[in-house]
Amino acid sequence: MKKRLQILITVSVLAFLFLSVIQYSLIKNTYDLEKKIFRSEIENIISKIKKTESFESFEENWKMNFSEFAKSYQMKKLTKQQYLDSLFQFFQKENLVFDKMFEKEKSLIDLKYDLDYQVDLEQIIFFSKIKNDTISFEEKYHIGNGFSKENALSVNNSIWKVETSTIDDENKEIELSYEIQSSDYVKINNDYWIVFQRMSYTFIFSVLLFVLICALFFYTVKSMIKQKDLLLLKTDFINNIIHEFKTPLATLKIASKSLRNKKITGNEVLMENTLKTIERQNTRLEKLLNQIVEISPNNPVKLELETVEISSFLREIYEDFQISCSQKEIVFLDEISSQKIFCEVSKMHLTIAIQNLLDNAVKYSKENIKIEVKSFVENDFYQIQIKDSGIGISAKKQKEIFKKFYRVSSGNVHNVKGLGLGLFYTKQIIELHHGEISVKSELEKGTLFNIKLPLKNEK
Ligand code: ADP
Repeated sequence: MKKRLQILITVSVLAFLFLSVIQYSLIKNTYDLEKKIFRSEIENIISKIKKTESFESFEENWKMNFSEFAKSYQMKKLTKQQYLDSLFQFFQKENLVFDKMFEKEKSLIDLKYDLDYQVDLEQIIFFSKIKNDTISFEEKYHIGNGFSKENALSVNNSIWKVETSTIDDENKEIELSYEIQSSDYVKINNDYWIVFQRMSYTFIFSVLLFVLICALFFYTVKSMIKQKDLLLLKTDFINNIIHEFKTPLATLKIASKSLRNKKITGNEVLMENTLKTIERQNTRLEKLLNQIVEISPNNPVKLELETVEISSFLREIYEDFQISCSQKEIVFLDEISSQKIFCEVSKMHLTIAIQNLLDNAVKYSKENIKIEVKSFVENDFYQIQIKDSGIGISAKKQKEIFKKFYRVSSGNVHNVKGLGLGLFYTKQIIELHHGEISVKSELEKGTLFNIKLPLKNEK
């Protein structure tokens, strides 16, 4: 059973991990796809803007001016540095025009996000029959307001080839040929967030589904473990019940057989002993049955309360208990209050509740058994303390012992049979008396149970 559960949990965990990986890759693919769609949308917008009349005339004008600088450089009218400087000045002037125009065109499109655009000049190659001249441009050579390339989208790479001829000062025709390489960049603020928003439904539903599966998974595993524990508890309980009933039944069988024996019926002392044994075993069975039947949820305990002089009542229970333990070597200490104090109690139930604590003091003892019963009045409560010098209960287990069927299962405690109902029953009874029960214990040192019962109201 335990192994099957372990295999089931392992397989479920693996399936769950596998599902998580699939879920992650599905979300990632959706994100990549949305990003691609977004990118092609941006490319469309840019190419639309570039095709507008104002842009086309700007480009034409710009290319014309640019060609003039290239021509001057190729005809050696400008040095390389002069060419670059004058080009930069030209760019700075043109950029202002470009920005204004771009902003205007942008405003004509219904854009839901802010978008910046610039063209970066990468390099220019002047072709020559002897040796090509390549100039790579620094970052400052751009058309547009100039933003950092970090997180910017490169939407287009273009090559502009020029082949023309001109007449030089000596009236000779010179062939001019060059090629300009440029890249278009677009920057959108929070582009990740925009893509993410577009897939928000997919994402939210995936996360919800994932959380739901997680919750279902943990709930299933938890209830499986609970079921398993419950099954073990039930088996334990049934075994313990069988054991608890076996002894009194066997004793009763022998005792009733003895009643057919003339030697016993003829002897008054033996007859009295046999009847006492039958009575004792009968009470024991009755007590067991009471605990089992009365604490079932369908059968709530109804107490028939009566006013009792509680100290004498407690002393009686303690003395009866001492007699029932007469075969064992136990040191009994008694500090029961001698005051006449009255409480409203159900004699039958309170007797069983206190007897349970006394029984446990013996059951969970070590070699030298010492039991002490103390009682006193404090804060309008009659307090009963039952202290033993037994095996004790660890702090962690102390919280559990009042639970139904709970039995401490470490050390040699398992050697002692029980149903795990005694303390549960005792607590129920004390609480039905509007009282409280608590425990103080230290392993190997002993345990002290403290019962608080309300005093009878004197009206
Ligand atoms: P049972 O005695 O039938 O097991 P109880 O409800 O009376 O059931 O007690 C629950 C558990 O609490 C016991 O199994 C035992 O481990 C622990 N316990 C109760 N009383 C004592 C005690 N006086 N000393 C040590 N352990 C105790």
